[in-house]
Amino acid sequence: MLRRQKITADLCVIGGGMAGICAAIAAARQGASVVLMHERPVLGGNASSEIRMWIRGAEGKNNMETGIIEEIFLENCYRNPTKNYYIWDTVLYDFVIREKNITLLLNCTCMDAVCADGDFGDGRTRKIKSVTGYQMTTQTFYDVQSTNYADCSGDSILAPLTGAEYRLGRESADEFTEDTPVKTPDNCVMGMSCLIQGRETAHPITYIPPKWSTPLTNEHFKYHMPDLGSPYENFWYLELGGDRDTIHDTEHIAKDLISLATGTWNYIKNSGAFQAQNWDLDFLGFLPGKRESRRMVGEYIITQQDIAANKIFEDTVAYGGWPYDVHCPDGFYNKGEVNTVAATPSPYCIPYRSMYSKNIANLFFAGRNISVTHMALSSTRVMATCALIGLAVLTAAAFD
Ligand SMILES: Cc1cc2nc3c(=O)[nH]c(=O)nc-3n(C[C@H](O)[C@H](O)[C@H](O)COP(=O)(O)OP(=O)(O)OC[C@H]3O[C@@H](n4cnc5c(N)ncnc54)[C@H](O)[C@@H]3O)c2cc1C
Repeated sequence: MLRRQKITADLCVIGGGMAGICAAIAAARQGASVVLMHERPVLGGNASSEIRMWIRGAEGKNNMETGIIEEIFLENCYRNPTKNYYIWDTVLYDFVIREKNITLLLNCTCMDAVCADGDFGDGRTRKIKSVTGYQMTTQTFYDVQSTNYADCSGDSILAPLTGAEYRLGRESADEFTEDTPVKTPDNCVMGMSCLIQGRETAHPITYIPPKWSTPLTNEHFKYHMPDLGSPYENFWYLELGGDRDTIHDTEHIAKDLISLATGTWNYIKNSGAFQAQNWDLDFLGFLPGKRESRRMVGEYIITQQDIAANKIFEDTVAYGGWPYDVHCPDGFYNKGEVNTVAATPSPYCIPYRSMYSKNIANLFFAGRNISVTHMALSSTRVMATCALIGLAVLTAAAFD
């Protein structure tokens, strides 16, 4: 029998990406006892050293996400001027462990939930009684019993575990009158990527690729030629899997992404198209960064029309402002650009009603899994916006 531990708290946050970190800290600072359950050894989700995406938010030179994310940015500027990813991990860890009201469970995967059925008001007939996580490093199951739950897992793990309503894939253009070529709804989403980073050294370095590396030529890089000289080159366009199941097929997609990454490095090192003799492979993320999977359904679903019209909601608690940045499901192998980008108003309003479940009484969410259409997600998904939503939803819930 494996060990079982019980924890009671006011709030349990699942997922310690930028949304979950800010949600947990916001609630803790309101005086709530919080459990933050996170399946990885480091915090930050797609922004962590394991995946390495940059945090972006609302476009426009006068726009800046404030609150907890700004505190984190400022401290990172002070303590980590060289933008070292390992120092960044410690900055995030420090922000969480310094909050006395947070119990942090790292390496702990939420994998079960117990619910109660009844009449919980506003048409909601179910509520969560507890969730269970398995911590692999200690071979321990944690049963967390709390008043409220926040699903910040990106993949909406509490949807299959509790029956929370969710959406997946692309809506047809006419469902919400959105500007998309999709005629019939499908399950396609934006894909995932394993990022790579190179480093220039003072000596020639050879690269012998594994046999299973994807063979690549100039033709594959017609739209995005690797730019070793750019500090912003992280190969985000090595994207696959949006036309598959980005939850259940993740390990298959990851295998293809790793072959694509080593194939790309082989192309850079050995094709002769680059002056890359002295370059070394500094990082290859084996954990794919995900852009899209299940999106929870809240009391309100934000659409492209809402964003385009810059709709003012009476329950506005957060703001977005990244462009509609829609990625093609076939990603790197798309016959054309990997993504299309179109401006949004910036900033635009994000309502509280898109951050709590339509059918589960005590379930909140923050991050890329809030209640949005696929088109709206293409903008709301950036991490400073996700962080702001995390801060907003648990602060708003405290006053609700
Ligand atoms: C390649 C790529 C490029 C991108 N480019 C940018 C960019 O330039 N700028 C930008 O801001 N955004 C970018 N994005 C989008 C952005 O990274 C995501 O939308 C964002 O990470 C969502 O934040 P989140 O906190 O909701 O989720 P995540 O960052 O995915 O964090 C959720 C965390 O929850 C954990 N988790 C999942 N399930 C469980 C469970 N059952 N139990 C416990 N923990 C769990 C996960 O391990 C994960 O760490 C990019 C995404 C990708 C993949």
